Amino acid sequence: MTTPIPQTTPDEKAAPAQPKPSILNLGRKEMLALVAELGEPPYRAEQLWRSIYHECKTSFADMTNLAKGFRASLEERFSIDPFTPALHLHSRDGSTDKALFRMADGEMIETVLMRYEPDAHRKRRRTACVSTQAGCALGCTFCATGQQGFRRQLTTGEIVGQVLYVARIAQAEDNALIASRAIAQGEVSGITNVVFMGMGEPFANYDNTMKAIRVLNDGQGMNIGARHITVSTVGLVPQILKFADEPFQVNLAVSLHAPDDETRSVTMPINRRYPVATLIDACRRYVEKTDRRVFFEYVLLAGQNDSAAQAHKLGALLRGMLCHVNLIPVNPTEKGSYRRPVQARSLEFQTVLLTYGVPSTVRIEKGIDISAGCGQLRARVLDQAEATASA
Ligand code: SF4
Repeated sequence: MTTPIPQTTPDEKAAPAQPKPSILNLGRKEMLALVAELGEPPYRAEQLWRSIYHECKTSFADMTNLAKGFRASLEERFSIDPFTPALHLHSRDGSTDKALFRMADGEMIETVLMRYEPDAHRKRRRTACVSTQAGCALGCTFCATGQQGFRRQLTTGEIVGQVLYVARIAQAEDNALIASRAIAQGEVSGITNVVFMGMGEPFANYDNTMKAIRVLNDGQGMNIGARHITVSTVGLVPQILKFADEPFQVNLAVSLHAPDDETRSVTMPINRRYPVATLIDACRRYVEKTDRRVFFEYVLLAGQNDSAAQAHKLGALLRGMLCHVNLIPVNPTEKGSYRRPVQARSLEFQTVLLTYGVPSTVRIEKGIDISAGCGQLRARVLDQAEATASA
């Protein structure tokens, strides 16, 4: 299902207003400083933070617990959302939404919301997959974003804003479940997990990503537990080591995708800067320092990296490390030439890893019908725009 967003009129285009900065760029201390600057007592910062991140208010005017004058001052200086939704897609099975956002400078980014129904072992979960850059410079050949090139870094507000957008959807869904008595008031789940696996390399935008994590993790706001947040890197070694020194328990995922330099360099140019041995050494040092498991992402490309011999190499490489491998049969991109392996091949790969004591999961595929793979929706929208322009 596609919900087109109304376009601006020619008159609006003729006189563009200078966009106000988003308040989502402020960390806790900065918000406290802002409140002091506006002559309000410190507890107002707490109220404002909760209104934005816990109650998910979409306008300052709706924050009726704040004094009218204070709301007017905020309205004058800031916006809340740093972008406007350009497209919102909902997968046929209802499990996945994908949103495309247009930012003030016209750049576009994607965010995915994945829903997991509760079962005997786990509660209801909703995961937000967010972007950290518009485009990406690292050029992995299987990735739609990599095929589009780097545009710019996202601000903290643009990263946090993506989670807030899907948190509002989650809030509306929770309220509907309460109204239909499917869940009790105390069972609301909101957004339970955040993965930094959308467009861009989070560690190439390190400071804004870390600041966004602190905002998401804040107990008075969205309160997303650090252990429910995962940062995925293509393998920037200096940043992996820096990340090991961060004070929070956020998960680290590493996009490995091949067990040797020969195979990895073909699909991931970054491997020429940080080869497999250097990368795995950094991961082992990360585990030693943090005592936390590393998650290795391994996109299975039929005929490229999914042979039994490659599974044996991967098993030998990771043997003895505190880690988990996520095997992901590729989401073929329209411009890419990769094929998805048959399911039996994925399961065979998994069985070989087990013989080395390396645990793994074949990841559940979600949102194939709405181009949920990183960068696929932006690519599709731009292609359609080009086709329309040249028609
Ligand atoms: S997989 Fe990640 S790092 Fe590689 S090109 Fe795509 S967005 Fe960039």
